[in-house]
Amino acid sequence: MSAEDRTDIRALSREELKSFVTESLGEKAFRADQIYSWLHEKYAASFDEMSNLSKDLRKKLADRCELVTLKPVKVYVSKIDGTRKYLMQLPDGNIIESVLMRYDYGNTACVSCQVGCAMGCKFCASAIGGLTRDLRTSEILEEVYAMMRESGERISHIVMMGCGEPLQNLDQVIPFIELISSEGGYHLSKRNITVSTCGIVPGIKRLAEEEPQVTLALSLHAPTQEKRRELMPIANKYDLEEVLNACREHQQKTGRRLTYEYCLVSGVNDNNEEARELIALLDRYPAHLNLIPVNPVKERDYTRSDRKDILNFKKLLEKNGINVTIRREIGADIDGACGQLRKGYLESAEGSEQAEQS
Ligand code: SAH
Repeated sequence: MSAEDRTDIRALSREELKSFVTESLGEKAFRADQIYSWLHEKYAASFDEMSNLSKDLRKKLADRCELVTLKPVKVYVSKIDGTRKYLMQLPDGNIIESVLMRYDYGNTACVSCQVGCAMGCKFCASAIGGLTRDLRTSEILEEVYAMMRESGERISHIVMMGCGEPLQNLDQVIPFIELISSEGGYHLSKRNITVSTCGIVPGIKRLAEEEPQVTLALSLHAPTQEKRRELMPIANKYDLEEVLNACREHQQKTGRRLTYEYCLVSGVNDNNEEARELIALLDRYPAHLNLIPVNPVKERDYTRSDRKDILNFKKLLEKNGINVTIRREIGADIDGACGQLRKGYLESAEGSEQAEQS
């Protein structure tokens, strides 16, 4: 059987797996539950380790199915806080990045949903090479599973804040959310999943409709439509007011708390005037605000705001009753984030060797 004809078994829902096992493989239904548990509860990396299945069945599965497994080609461990940043190789040789962060309340996985990104935000390293392709459901799942296998730890929270735009790949992201939260599988609470978007209005609406329990984060980054357009090309397609109205609708429909992300870029969006515009905006569209000191990307001349300016900006917002935090910097000793690791690797000698091999 050619690779393309094989079933991507990690992407099947429990019901789909049951019909595949009984109808296509001619096995008893309880086998499907055993296999599902190996795939999603024990995050198996091979059919061989599925020790309660017969050798014959394991062979049948290996012949008929593709078991998507990601290979951590590099793991960078922070000496400061134990953050683990991974470069993962996909079955077709593409490289993505995933991060495991430690917090008091548990471990958070930051996952990518695309190879590269088409959104073109000016300060973001993922945007530089454009979009290569969407990730498949099984590949997004495997980011979480492969990190747990490698680290020996459990993950309690997921943020879709790696490379790519999740709302541009909802056909794969929604089944990912369903599978990772499923009973009999990893059973992670949907409330512990955050989907971050640059502001794709139909996607926000679809998410509210189909996955009302997940948390939404909006990458705001500017207090006005004009300024936002300078930083984020998507603002040409969806006007700020339209995006914020979709977020408000999301909040009303789902009852979930919403977060706005705001990257602070020196001299671009961090002065008092902008803080005041932001206060006025958040008065009309209340939400939690997360300030992120920008990670400088070497191809862009955006720099991080001074510590003093960041604290001033925050103080001004707080004085006006805005619920605001500064994002704690994690793994500061192991390079930036948001596609910088992958980009650095692809440009290095090692990365080009890897690309040639695949
Ligand atoms: N496409 C989604 C999710 C990916 S990025 C989105 O736009 O939300 C996750 C967050 O990191 C976004 O808020 C994004 O704007 C931010 N980000 C991107 N590049 C950054 C950089 N260089 N420094 C700090 N944050 C960055």
